Amino acid sequence: MKLATIQSGSEKKVVAVEGDKYLDLRAAEPKLAQCLRGILTQEGGLDLARAAAEKAKLAGTYVEGKLLAPIQKPGKVICIGLNYRDHAEESGQPIPTEPVCFGKFTSAVIGPEAEIRLPKVAQKVDYEAELVVVIGKSGKYIPKESAMNHVAGYMNGNDVSARDWQIGRPGGQWMLGKTPDTFAPTGPYLVTADEVPNPGNLAIGLKLNGNVMQNSTTKELIFSVDHLIAHLSQLMTLEPGDLIFTGTPPGVGAARKPPVFIKGGDTVEVEIGGFGVLKNPVVQE
Ligand code: ZN
Repeated sequence: MKLATIQSGSEKKVVAVEGDKYLDLRAAEPKLAQCLRGILTQEGGLDLARAAAEKAKLAGTYVEGKLLAPIQKPGKVICIGLNYRDHAEESGQPIPTEPVCFGKFTSAVIGPEAEIRLPKVAQKVDYEAELVVVIGKSGKYIPKESAMNHVAGYMNGNDVSARDWQIGRPGGQWMLGKTPDTFAPTGPYLVTADEVPNPGNLAIGLKLNGNVMQNSTTKELIFSVDHLIAHLSQLMTLEPGDLIFTGTPPGVGAARKPPVFIKGGDTVEVEIGGFGVLKNPVVQE
């Protein structure tokens, strides 16, 4: 099942995506929570959503609207750095012996077609195609063996990064480089985990203005999804709707010779497996 959040008139609605049509889930099942994070938090929420999608399909209850970020306000946005061997190499960094972690604020989250806005104070802004894991079940000290039971699904993500802040500032301002407004595009859909039997074998790519810049596979991940969940949950409770950006493959702009940075007027597209295309225009503030 592909779930999305749309703006429909003055309302935000959670829908199931059927081709290019949207099934109105709450019209079919009023017990469903109003937002996708709420549905993931709700006991049996995904099963209820599945039943609602079937009902809506039978009744032909379609709704129109504009796609937004599937999870509007995740509780946490956790990101993993240098999680592809060849990306660590192109960045001139050693292969990590444990996951390198950082975070973004939820104010960075945007959906498909929304503008990536370049701050006036950042000149070297880069793209990073990433597989995003959406947590569906709460847990702490989650064993690796059962970690996948905590995954609701997956999305395309773009870990937009201001390299001149992330690296070039005193102390390395990793957080400020990673979390300006709009620097966490996600979507267009949340693809539920049952449709992704192996998240460690997905094509992952990124195009800048139609040119392929990243083209790899999640087979190259150093730390797998179950490993990341087990690792992170030793320190923090993972909760429904939390996002984990799992790192980017090689081909980022900063590692190119000469470097390539995104600028106003550009278009960036991320596509993983059959997750649809996450396309965002770039605007200079
Ligand atoms: Zn990243």
